[in-house]
Amino acid sequence: MNYDKNQIVTVEITDIGIDGEGIGKIDGFPFFIKDAIVGDVVEAKVTKAKKTYAYARVEKVITPSLFRVEPKCAFHRQCGGCQIQAMDYGKQLEFKQQKVRNNLIRIGGFEADFIDSIMEPVVGMDNPYFYRNKAQYPVGKNKEGELIAGFYAGRTHSIIANTQCYLGVEDNKPILETILAHMKKFGIESYDEETGKGVVRHILIRKGFHSGEIMVCLVVNVPDLGADLDKALRGKEELIAALCQFEGMTSISVNQNIRRDNVIMGIQCRTLWGKDRITDTLGGISFEISPLSFYQVNPVQTQKLYGLAVEYANLTGKEVVWDLYCGIGTISLYMAQKAGRVCGVEIIPQAIEDAKANAARNGFTNTEFFVGKAEEVLPSYYEVKMKENKDDAMLHPDVICVDPPRKGCDTACLDTMLKMAPSRIVYVSCDSATLARDLKILCDGGYALKRVRAVDQFPHTTHVESVVLLSKEM
Ligand code: SAH
Repeated sequence: MNYDKNQIVTVEITDIGIDGEGIGKIDGFPFFIKDAIVGDVVEAKVTKAKKTYAYARVEKVITPSLFRVEPKCAFHRQCGGCQIQAMDYGKQLEFKQQKVRNNLIRIGGFEADFIDSIMEPVVGMDNPYFYRNKAQYPVGKNKEGELIAGFYAGRTHSIIANTQCYLGVEDNKPILETILAHMKKFGIESYDEETGKGVVRHILIRKGFHSGEIMVCLVVNVPDLGADLDKALRGKEELIAALCQFEGMTSISVNQNIRRDNVIMGIQCRTLWGKDRITDTLGGISFEISPLSFYQVNPVQTQKLYGLAVEYANLTGKEVVWDLYCGIGTISLYMAQKAGRVCGVEIIPQAIEDAKANAARNGFTNTEFFVGKAEEVLPSYYEVKMKENKDDAMLHPDVICVDPPRKGCDTACLDTMLKMAPSRIVYVSCDSATLARDLKILCDGGYALKRVRAVDQFPHTTHVESVVLLSKEM
């Protein structure tokens, strides 16, 4: 059967694709339909037709699925942020559980019965809205030339005006509106990607959920953050006066970004008012967060995730632990509360500076941090110590915890982990496909998969985190 672009088809949605799209078949020919919910019957327009499958988008929902809900956000279809806001939250969780399960079976090569016998129920949120502690709004103009802040329409760089994102905190909207009103009053231009002209590119807002502290950072296109900024950000004092009225306001800063690409933040910041950083606590440990720091965006779920990682590590107070891909040392410090000694490894030097400062401020004396790639630091540590001191404690860790980016662990890292032969490996993952690939290598190397649990860090999106425990087979 051949389908053509723009053809209208009527399809019953019977499955969910990995990107949250609905899948339905006509005479065995599959359609991948954005915004369709499993259980819907939809009229869809073909957007791309291939020989054996086609992509389409919903034109009309003919019979709504039982799992279809009224999304809070009017822009959920256009926005690149949420993919499955129209899906009942319970169904979202089931989808995420299945995504992890299926990757472990399909890519990891584990038996379905085995996975079903060990996999624990996905950890969802009680209130899956307003969960993000960080928001980055692009600033630009609409077709009428009016100044707007909002979000990029999926896969594009056109901005749709919307200051009310239901994933972010409710403080964001009035803060954004205050800044936009100020820009209009003083004729401060938004940045134009086409010409590279204009001043304000993005507005970053962060809030410490525990501390209530708020940080606002304007990302600006100015040649320098001294006199040029003062000239470009007209009425600066008035803007600051307006922003510091907000409860919790702790830090107001600018970040210079003169790049002509998609990178949101530059490297230079200048604090205009208040502190350089905000503080927040996670599991009783305080963290200082600068505009540039990496910090998990969903603090409620992060605590659950790290709690599981510590539980899986089964610490009694004496253990020696590596925390690879440690960022600002969040997991390291969680572990250090219950372990003998923890060594963190992270590629970004600034994050390691933050990790050390976080450890010191919280009074930890049993942590150490190394800058570098996990796949270089760990193997070279191993080689050096094997020559110098075979009894070195970090050479024989009890636990290695990893929390790599989406691409997973490098094989050089996995190989050294196998050589170091810890009793337990705790793998925290934001991509269950690379997780499954790496688990296969670790299990072939003598480990057994013991526990798996998915944690929903990002409700309404298709992302899912997982935490896994592997034990060394004796
Ligand atoms: N565990 C931390 C950070 C996890 S995100 C937390 O939960 O906060 C993954 C981290 O891995 C990022 O900080 C990233 O900078 C770092 N990273 C990416 N590639 C790396 C590599 N090859 N070696 C070490 N760290 C790396």
